[in-house]
Amino acid sequence: MPAKKARSNTSAAAPAAAPAPAGPPGTGPSLVQRALRKLGLQRDIDFALYLPMRYEDETRIVRLADLRDGEQGQIEAVVLDSEVSYRPRRQLVVTVDDGSDTCQLRFFNFYPSHQKQLAVGARVRVRGEVRGGFLGRQMMHPTVKAAGTQLPEALTPVYPTVAGLAQPVLRREVRAGLARAVLDETVPASAGWPGAGEVWNLRSALSFLHYPTPDVSIAALEDRSHPAWQRLKSEELLAQQLSQLQARRERAGQRAPVLPSSDAATALHAQLMAVLPFALTGAQARVGEEITRDLARDAPMHRLLQGDVGSGKTVVAALAAARCIDAGFQCALMAPTEILAAQHFSKLIGWLAPLLETRGLRVAWLTGSQKKKARDEMSAAVESGEAALVIGTHAVISEKVRFKRLALAIIDEQHRFGVAQRLALRGKATQGLEPHLLMMSATPIPRTLAMSYYADLDVSTLDELPPGRTPIVTKLVAEHRRDEVIDRIQAQLAQGRQVYWVCPLIEESEAVDLRNATETRDELAGMLGDHVNVALLHSRMPTAEKQAVMAAFTANDVQVLVSTTVIEVGVDVPNASLMVIEHAERFGLSQLHQLRGRVGRGAAASACVLLYAPNEGGRVGETARARLRAMAETGDGFEIARRDLEIRGPGEFLGARQSGAPLLRFADLETDHLLLDWARELAPLMLDRHPGLAQKHIDRWLGSKADYLKA
Ligand code: ADP
Ligand code: MG
Repeated sequence: MPAKKARSNTSAAAPAAAPAPAGPPGTGPSLVQRALRKLGLQRDIDFALYLPMRYEDETRIVRLADLRDGEQGQIEAVVLDSEVSYRPRRQLVVTVDDGSDTCQLRFFNFYPSHQKQLAVGARVRVRGEVRGGFLGRQMMHPTVKAAGTQLPEALTPVYPTVAGLAQPVLRREVRAGLARAVLDETVPASAGWPGAGEVWNLRSALSFLHYPTPDVSIAALEDRSHPAWQRLKSEELLAQQLSQLQARRERAGQRAPVLPSSDAATALHAQLMAVLPFALTGAQARVGEEITRDLARDAPMHRLLQGDVGSGKTVVAALAAARCIDAGFQCALMAPTEILAAQHFSKLIGWLAPLLETRGLRVAWLTGSQKKKARDEMSAAVESGEAALVIGTHAVISEKVRFKRLALAIIDEQHRFGVAQRLALRGKATQGLEPHLLMMSATPIPRTLAMSYYADLDVSTLDELPPGRTPIVTKLVAEHRRDEVIDRIQAQLAQGRQVYWVCPLIEESEAVDLRNATETRDELAGMLGDHVNVALLHSRMPTAEKQAVMAAFTANDVQVLVSTTVIEVGVDVPNASLMVIEHAERFGLSQLHQLRGRVGRGAAASACVLLYAPNEGGRVGETARARLRAMAETGDGFEIARRDLEIRGPGEFLGARQSGAPLLRFADLETDHLLLDWARELAPLMLDRHPGLAQKHIDRWLGSKADYLKA
């Protein structure tokens, strides 16, 4: 891939960094190291600040008979029976008896090692939530260990993790990281601390939460007014305030090309308006003006365009590009996936290519999968300035691509781009002038976040959908009523409509995801008959193949598209009127909303079916159901984002973990306003009087993520 790991200033800015534990010479990073990196854990301090998401009480064994339905507990029992069942789907069903009662353990994803551990006659220690069920008491996906080993004395921390990284390994890494981390004081003694309570130092606060002592209860650990939490929250908010202020001060000094607007009939902007097959919505026109005003200034635009799925952000981007080209400059448009970039490309060339041609200009296409010859040819056009508009994936910002005079960079689905990529785009400055930046997102930022992390960002909102859309009816359907869904699909197909079927996310392994999707495709093909074409689209397919499948679906040569979540962004096939999402409970709300937005794009009434597995995964059951209900109740992306935030907390928002956005992990802007006030007051003083400590504090807390605000 051309996206060279972008330069980042972290190597210089993170003196506390220790080299990652190296594998044997000559080998790449181990699985564990890769998993740790995925979690953003590299420096000692990253480990130290990586807190448990919950604690488990493994200190006691209880009697099954004493566990109420819905209660978590740890039992020791003997396996009476163990078998693989295929109804309603493949699962391992194990019956255990602890002398007081019996219980069934169910596992949907299991390996031969599970079966071996749970062989008839084995004595096992099982921990999970018991539920009363139709077939007796059950535990879904409990944790299983050999019985008889020593019980821990204190609560066990459980960390968020990814495939390939077991809790004990992660726990050990965190412990080692915390032990090594240098945690000297960064807050000047003269600053004082907010509130009147006891003040703990950083190391005691972290040790308290990572390694509870036997006398500490879950309630104490989760009490956010505890001095340990107060300390972490105050420090975190201070880091946030410092880095924001620093970014604001830096940006105040930057200059951008002035792009005056021309409304002459011969201008590209006016010509584009004339060829559009529709009139702009009021919201599009208003946002267009906001952008036009920004572009005419010599300060770089730093604007987020948020608009619900289908609100028509693309045309706003095209009009901004036209303004830029009218002023004699180049515009770059980047999308996170090749499919999405290709869609922009075909739409924008349809509108703009003929108009550009009369000016001796063209649109260039740049992606990683391109043949070298094509890419070299495109790069040359970018360098000569002949390519007035450059569309593609992050290949657009590859170091080899040199713009003649880039003045506007547009990033679609901005939250899917990493910090480094956004920075690299800004690094494409011409003659010391920063390009204007327009970021687009269908995932709205809630107000509280907009006011804090994005304080430095201007936000435009498309709060109006183009006319003629029919609302999408959303239905929740339990997994065992899958047959009804097939009837629905057939009804749509009979009317000449098309259907999306989205396969579940199974985090453990892509291979399992793929096998599942393939099985579903075959199953549907079998049930729907020969006259229906069912195709599969997944993230591991070669690009050309993906594009061929998408083209076939667009042309209605394929009627049912089974896919993993690669279609999540940007696909536009108005004839598709039904979307089925399998295991909807495993998706985030905003993600479901985006997926659902793929239908309802034409005039036909559209529906979205959320298939869910009741009770699966035990503890997630209730919240999952509440979230799915929220989906059925509202079609408004902003409302959904608000509820998502409520349910998941801001740390998860905007896919923060992938994007590296420095969102708050500990503090809560609503409830911690006293701490926020303290941080806000201290930040400018600290930057002025203790710049060294300020930098150290930012690096410690945000590390490479500090760049996010500047990007
Ligand atoms: P999104 O905001 O999700 O990126 P798109 O830009 O893909 O939305 O627009 C969704 C669909 O609506 C496209 O087919 C687009 O051509 C169409 N569209 C955009 N603006 C209007 C409008 N003002 N009137 C009618 N259709 C429009
Ligand atoms: Mg879009």
